[in-house]
Amino acid sequence: MSKIVFATNNQHKLEEVSSILEGKVEILSLNDINCFEDIPETADTLEGNALLKARFVKEKYGYNCFADDTGLEIKALNNAPGVISARYAGEQKDAQDNMRKVLTELNGESERQARFRTVIALILDGQEHLFEGIVTGDITETAFGNGGFGYDPIFRPEGYDCTFAELSSNEKNSISHRGRAVQKLIEFLSR
Ligand code: IMP
Repeated sequence: MSKIVFATNNQHKLEEVSSILEGKVEILSLNDINCFEDIPETADTLEGNALLKARFVKEKYGYNCFADDTGLEIKALNNAPGVISARYAGEQKDAQDNMRKVLTELNGESERQARFRTVIALILDGQEHLFEGIVTGDITETAFGNGGFGYDPIFRPEGYDCTFAELSSNEKNSISHRGRAVQKLIEFLSR
């Protein structure tokens, strides 16, 4: 089985992606390759950040690699928080603070459409490829559920009457932005 580095140490993401790619590709984390550096995420787009991370690993460690970047894009907030989703409420990158800020900004707003967008940048045998996954939905009035991570408790995917945080991880993976981007990655890797 071929080995590819997933340029993350986020345990939630590693589990999500490894379970989707199970048996097809062996996923190594940054810890697995002894990369303990802070990888720069200084671009102003999701595509730019995903490429920065994948190039960093390829150039310094030599592995084929993919990296993702995700943003929550809320229509009424001109697609904010977008590329700054992780640090929307400050550099402490706290999920509760971020959700509170979103709910405050949308207070009294009836237009609550939102989408999660993931971009995966893959560097394979010297070539760069981008894959995008989107899930549309809306932002709830308050947080519901204990599963998932990040903004999951306030995001209700279209066609559901519960939030991402109330779905099992399998259910979430089957419809999520990351799940969809990873499906495109798998189709590409198994071509
Ligand atoms: P990242 O750039 O992929 O690490 O994600 C940026 C921000 O979006 C972080 O605050 C994450 O918590 C949040 N995020 C990423 N993926 C998800 C998800 O699947 N559900 C909820 N929040 C997410």
